[in-house]
Amino acid sequence: MSSVSILGLGAMGSALAARFLEEKYKVAVWNRSPEKAGPWLDKGANLAQTAVDGINASDLIIICLLDNAAVQTTLAGALGQLQGKTIVNLTNGTPDQARKLSDQIVGHGARYVHGGIMATPSMIGSPYALILYSGSQEAFKAHEPDLLVLAKCIFLSEDTGAASLHDVALLSGMYGLFSGFLHATALVRSSTPAVKFTDLLVPWLGAMTEYTKGMAKQIDEGKYASEGSNIAMQLVAIQNIIDTSAAQQVSADFIRPMKQLMEKAVVAGHGGDDISALIDFVKTS
Ligand code: NDP
Repeated sequence: MSSVSILGLGAMGSALAARFLEEKYKVAVWNRSPEKAGPWLDKGANLAQTAVDGINASDLIIICLLDNAAVQTTLAGALGQLQGKTIVNLTNGTPDQARKLSDQIVGHGARYVHGGIMATPSMIGSPYALILYSGSQEAFKAHEPDLLVLAKCIFLSEDTGAASLHDVALLSGMYGLFSGFLHATALVRSSTPAVKFTDLLVPWLGAMTEYTKGMAKQIDEGKYASEGSNIAMQLVAIQNIIDTSAAQQVSADFIRPMKQLMEKAVVAGHGGDDISALIDFVKTS
């Protein structure tokens, strides 16, 4: 029987534990607030009283806590128990945090893999769930069949920070989408219900998502010459969005930073380029 320890039974850790239990793994669970383990004990999990007990219970330890500071605190008293273990940390954080944890954990004789979960808890185990990994490729390969229980896996790099970097980049794309959705919906809300508006918005965003592939090509080639929608024209149009927002009593906070970047680009002589040229104005050095 395969075994796994799950440290952290928040919304996501619980979904991970549930999936392994469904697949008949021997599952040890630990959570700072032990009462959250109740439902999983009823389904056959074993309660680890301490994080050290959780680590001792299996060779594969999956950690999913709120942040890497919590991971650091949780492992502080358990570093001596890590020899020979594989730690898969699925906690969201920065690339540097992942690298520092890896150095510490590998220094205590364990293998370390960091993961970025691109899924909500209810998606875990579904064909839509993806987890990005980086760190020890050897450990990843050894446990890939176990990790596939949770989601599709993509191993990015032996640079342990790579999964977190791509995770936060994808989340940034998601927040851009959410901000666009919220601002657009706020503009029409006085006349059109949000659900009805998605009939127009979702196909439009789908078309624009395709458009970003052409933008990506321009960025990789460093050639931004406009193919029809230059920044100077878009700067006029974006002011119309801001003016309409004011008239609709909607904040322009989501859209104003985009206008400011366009203004910078036009002042720097890029008015005739496509919007992809803004990539060089996002850099801070
Ligand atoms: P929750 O807020 O539901 O759970 C947080 C977990 O962290 C709990 O187990 C909590 O323990 C524990 N925790 C918090 N602080 C500490 C601490 N100082 N020491 C020990 N344990 C601590 O978060 P989620 O489960 O939703 O998220 C977990 C991770 O998964 C996060 O990094 C999140 O970004 C990531 N993630 C979440 C997604 C989601 O949609 N939920 C999607 C993709 C990634 P306690 O119960 O005692 O409070």
